[in-house]
Amino acid sequence: MSTATRTSAETIELFDKYVIGNYRRYPISLVRGDGSRVWDAEGQCYLDLFPGWGCNILGYSPHKVIQAVQEQVARLIHVPNTWYMEPQGEFAEAICTRGFGKAFFCNSGAESLEGAIKLARLSTPPEKYKIITFENGFHGRTFAAVTATAQPKYHEGFGPLVPGFVYAPHNDLEAVRNLVDDETCAILIEPVQGEGGVNTPAEGFLQGLRDLCDERGMRLVFDEVQTGMARTGNWFAYQTFGVQPDIMTMAKGIAAGVACGAIIATEEVAPALRPGIHASTFGGNPIAMAAGLATVQTIEEEGLLDNVNRMSERFREYFEGLQKELPIIEEIRICGMMIGLDLAIESTPAVKKCMERGLLINATHDTVIRLLPALNLTDEDFEEGCAILTEVLREMAEEAAA
Ligand SMILES: *Cc1c(COP(=O)(O)O)cnc(C)c1O
Repeated sequence: MSTATRTSAETIELFDKYVIGNYRRYPISLVRGDGSRVWDAEGQCYLDLFPGWGCNILGYSPHKVIQAVQEQVARLIHVPNTWYMEPQGEFAEAICTRGFGKAFFCNSGAESLEGAIKLARLSTPPEKYKIITFENGFHGRTFAAVTATAQPKYHEGFGPLVPGFVYAPHNDLEAVRNLVDDETCAILIEPVQGEGGVNTPAEGFLQGLRDLCDERGMRLVFDEVQTGMARTGNWFAYQTFGVQPDIMTMAKGIAAGVACGAIIATEEVAPALRPGIHASTFGGNPIAMAAGLATVQTIEEEGLLDNVNRMSERFREYFEGLQKELPIIEEIRICGMMIGLDLAIESTPAVKKCMERGLLINATHDTVIRLLPALNLTDEDFEEGCAILTEVLREMAEEAAA
C-alpha cells in the first residue's frame, strides 16, 4: 500500500524546481512507516536503524503519540506563552521529576543550545563569558551553536563567528584545566558525542569537568539533544555517567519526532531566565507538549529503558563477535542505543550498499557507521538489521583486501 500520489521521481522534480538544495538527499520519497519499517512512494520497504536521524525514538508510528497529537490538535493548536496551558505544565513535570530542576521549551536542538549559552552567561558574573567546547562536538547550525561546534568544516565562509568560544581536545582534562581563566563561564559538552562519531567519555572525564566547574564557579552544560530521553538506557545520559550538570539541552527524540526542544536548569540557575530576557513563540506549544508527554508515558509503560539496555548488550555481543572475523571494525563504541562502528576504511559506501538491501543506516566522521535505532526495536528487526550489515561489511572487507 502506498499513500503517495506522486512517484519519487515526480517529488524529486518538485524539489529540483522549488526547494533550496542545501541537503544531500537519497533519491527516495518516503511516505509512511510502522515501527522500524518505512515505505517509499514505490512501495519498497526499508528497515531503519537510524529512524528520523535519532528523532523517531519510538519508531514511525507511536500509537499513543499519534493519539495524543490528534486529540490535542482538535482542542487547541497553539497558545502563546502569555497564558498557562496544561500540557506544558504536565510535560515539564514529566521531564523534571525524572531529571532535575525546571524546564524552558523551544523547538529545536540549536534553539535549545542558544538558550543554554545565554543562560550560562546570564547566571554567572558579568566578567565571565567564555565557554569551553570540544573538538568533534556538534551543537547545531545557528550562529552561537555552530560556533560552539568545534569542527572547522561547519564554519567555512560564515565568519566572523560569535566571540567567546574556546575549543578543547575531547577527553583531555588537563587541556581543559589549562584553558580555564577568570572569564570562563561554562563548559559545554555532549556526554556522548553523536555526530562526531559516537565518542564516549573517558573514565572520570565528566566528573573531572564537574569538579573543575565547582572549583572555578562555572556552569556545566550537557548537550543531551541526542543522548536525552532514554537513548542511553537511563532517562538522561548524565544519569548513565553519574554526573549532574547545571544546565541540559534536549531536542531530537523528546517528543518522538514532533518538533520540540527544551532546556533543563537547576533551581539555582533557572531564575536567571527572567521575564523578557528569552522567549520562543512556538516553544512549549500544546501539540509538542502532548506528544512529549505521550512519549514519556510510552517509554515507561512499554518498559523501553529495559529494552534499550537489553538491545544494547545484544548489539555489543554481536559486533564484538563480528570484529573477530572482520578486523576492518577497529573500534566498537556503544552507549545504550547509540552505536558506532569505527572502521579502518571509509564508512560512507556502507550506506548505499545497505540501502540496496533494504536497510537504512548512517555514516559519520569519515570512518564511523552510526546506528540510532528506535528504543522499541524488536528482536526480529535486530536480527535482520545485523544480518544485512554483516553481509555489507564482509563485502567491504573483501573489496579492501583486493
Ligand atoms: C542534532 C543535534 C543538535 C542540533 O539540533 P537541531 O534540532 O538540528 O538544531 C545539537 N546538538 C546535538 C548533540 C545534536 O545531535
